Amino acid sequence: MAKTKACRNCHFVVLNNVSQCPACKMHDLSEDFSGLIIILDPENSEIAQKLNVSRAGQYALKVR
Ligand SMILES: [Zn+2]
Repeated sequence: MAKTKACRNCHFVVLNNVSQCPACKMHDLSEDFSGLIIILDPENSEIAQKLNVSRAGQYALKVR
């Protein structure tokens, strides 16, 4: 599995060679995260609404 990081701001998960979050454009990425959920259809997902995300992708549940 490729190494990944998660955005501290919106929890979007990206590959390690990415330096900017594609979802919120922040540069605050952390390798220390846990839990992973995949959101395929944000508009019809309760989890997506809970996490306040509007973009499909992988999200971390906890980012330290
Ligand atoms: Zn982000």
